Amino acid sequence: VVAQVLASMKLVFEKKRASVTFHAEGDDFRARGGKAHIVNLFYNLLDNALKYSPGEPEISVRLKCVKDGVLLNIRDKGIGIPPEFHKKVFEKFFRVPSGNVHNIKGHGLGLNYVAGVVKSHGGTIRLDSQPGKGSTFIVYLPKHYEKN
Ligand code: ATP
Ligand code: MG
Repeated sequence: VVAQVLASMKLVFEKKRASVTFHAEGDDFRARGGKAHIVNLFYNLLDNALKYSPGEPEISVRLKCVKDGVLLNIRDKGIGIPPEFHKKVFEKFFRVPSGNVHNIKGHGLGLNYVAGVVKSHGGTIRLDSQPGKGSTFIVYLPKHYEKN
């Protein structure tokens, strides 16, 4: 799925002069879930990495299989997010009020959707970011999830 989304965005990357690297580590990347939602999750994170990187975006995507699931890591070298907003960015309609974000179109809905997909699959999402340095979103999706 990750490779498919990257391939489908090739023209977008070219147009933005983005360099995107992709590494996969391990041999079993299966995670149980709704394919369309996983596609949208990944697309939203990539869309942000592109949007919030001024100039020529440098994005790295890593996929790693861990004991009970997969880790998806999306890193950009863009504007970054101040620490006080690391939780808030997952709230509906929240956009970081600083920086030049308001020249960039968005509704503040993408990450709320992403967080919902992660939660309903029993996974986790973590953000590591520093203003001016870039952002890394780390998504963990378990191989199996329990219905509750
Ligand atoms: P959309 O609903 O179109 O996705 P959006 O991109 O503004 O709009 P989210 O994807 O939910 O909304 O992101 C929320 C906010 O978090 C953004 O407005 C931006 O301020 C910040 N943000 C998200 N991803 C990044 C990133 N990779 N680098 C810097 N800031 C980011
Ligand atoms: Mg977004």
